[in-house]
Amino acid sequence: MTYEDPENHIFVISHDCAIGCARKPHNDDCVVEHGNMVIESIYLDDQLARGAEMSRCVGIDHLESQPYILDIDLDAFHSRQAIDPADRTTFYRLIRNAAAITVATEAECVDDLKFDGEAIDVDFLLARVVEHIKAAQTLVPG
Ligand SMILES: [Zn+2]
Repeated sequence: MTYEDPENHIFVISHDCAIGCARKPHNDDCVVEHGNMVIESIYLDDQLARGAEMSRCVGIDHLESQPYILDIDLDAFHSRQAIDPADRTTFYRLIRNAAAITVATEAECVDDLKFDGEAIDVDFLLARVVEHIKAAQTLVPG
């Protein structure tokens, strides 16, 4: 794939649905499945692979070797499952290697976007993110 450098130099890595989704058409079950995997390794690896393709088109050969700020928006998490991925390998690597980490809390958006019946709020999500950051920095890879 070849990507044009956007006028504002900001690439957006979108994704149609959950990794491996074969539903046609995509439906409400997809929204939940997709939302629940936003920081699973399988999902982040796919996003990073496409980000790397975009980066190569603007002369960056090794995306993760560049200094970066990891910006975590809490309104990206719509469920308890979303903030507690089964495979944390990639998320933890991104945390460990970041030059800095920022967290956007967006309390109203968290409430608006959470899945029906989910007992999550911004305080819960922020506490989980902080726990992830501590765990990622404590655990020695391998
Ligand atoms: Zn789908």
